[in-house]
Amino acid sequence: MDVLLCGRFDADERREWHAALAGAAPGVRWLDEAAALVDASRVRAAVVANPAPGSLQGLPALGLVQSLWAGVDKLLADPTVPTTVPLARMVDPMMSMAMAETALWAVLALQRDFFTYARQQREGRWQQHPQRRAEDLRVTVLGLGEMGRAVAAVLAGRGHRVAGWSLSPRAAPGGVEVGHGAAALPALLARSDVLINLLPLTDATRGILDARCFTSLPRGAGVVNLARGGHVVDADLLGALDVGQVGHAVLDVFHAEPLPAAHRFWTHPRVTVLPHVAAATDVRSAAAVVARNLAHLAAGRPLEHLVDRTRGY
Ligand code: NAP
Repeated sequence: MDVLLCGRFDADERREWHAALAGAAPGVRWLDEAAALVDASRVRAAVVANPAPGSLQGLPALGLVQSLWAGVDKLLADPTVPTTVPLARMVDPMMSMAMAETALWAVLALQRDFFTYARQQREGRWQQHPQRRAEDLRVTVLGLGEMGRAVAAVLAGRGHRVAGWSLSPRAAPGGVEVGHGAAALPALLARSDVLINLLPLTDATRGILDARCFTSLPRGAGVVNLARGGHVVDADLLGALDVGQVGHAVLDVFHAEPLPAAHRFWTHPRVTVLPHVAAATDVRSAAAVVARNLAHLAAGRPLEHLVDRTRGY
C-alpha cells in the first residue's frame, strides 16, 4: 500500500517519523509529497500534520486521511481537504498522559502558589501564603473527551473536587461530577477555583473563554487553556487578569503561534506562557496508532477515531 506522509516537518522530524512509521507498518511504501506526484493514483492514505493547502488533492484512491494531531480544526477549515474521504484524528494514551501531567503541574502550582512565588522572586519579595490542601481546590474541566477524561481522573485522584463538562451526557471517571450542555455551564463556572479548557475548537466553542465566562468564576480563579487559542478572547482575559477577577492564567495555545513578540501575554505578571507543548504527539506510540488504522483500511475493517465533520470534532 502507498501512503503519503505530508506535513510541515523539518528534516530531523521527517526522518524520525519515517523510521517510526516504517517500523510500525513495514508493508507500507511511504511517500513524501513530491514523490507522491509521480504515482498519485496509487496513494491509499495520507498521514498528515498541518499539511500545506492543496496537498491532498489529485489522489483518486485516497481512502483515509490520518492526522498525527488530536485537534483537527485546521484540517476541517481547509477547503482543499477532500470531504468525502474519512478523516481520523490521533487518539493515543501516551498523549493523554502527557496532557494530564501538564494539567497536574498547572493545578499544583496554582494550589500551592508556586506561580506567585516565581513572580515574587523576580521582585525580590519574601512573602509566605497560606498552604492550601488539594481538597480546597475545586477544578472544572471543560471537555470530557480523550484529554479531559485523563486530566479529570488524575486530578480527582489527587483529591481535588473535580467537575467536567461535555456536550452530551457522559459517564465520568470516579469521583468526578459531570454536567452537559449550555444550561449546565453557569453552575460549573461558579464552582471553579481552577478552570481547565480541553474543548475542541468548533463554531460552538470559539471564544467561549470570554468576559462572561471570567465574571462567572469565583474571584481570583486560575484559568488553564491547553486546547486552542481560538477559545480565548484575549482582550477579555487580559481585562479579567488586570482587575484580579482571574488570578493567574496558564496558556499553552494562542490565536497566532508562535505568540507574537509584542503580545501582552508574554510580559503579564499573572500569565504563564508555554509554547504549545502541553501534549505533543509521541512519535513511537503514535506510529503504532497509525499502523493499526492503515491495517484496518487494507483489510476493509471499520476505521478508528473518525472525526464527525458535521459536529466539527
Ligand atoms: P475530544 O476527545 O474530541 O473531546 C472533546 C470533548 O469536548 C468531548 O467531551 C465533547 O463532548 C466536548 N465538547 C465538544 N463541544 C462541546 C460543546 N459545544 N459544549 C460542551 N462540550 C463540548 O477531544 P480531545 O482529544 O480530548 O482534545 C481536546 C482539545 O485538546 C482539542 O482542542 C485539542 O486540539 C487539544 N489538544 C491540545 C494539545 C496541546 O498540546 N496543547 C494536545 C492535544 C490536544 P461529548 O463528550 O459530548 O462529545
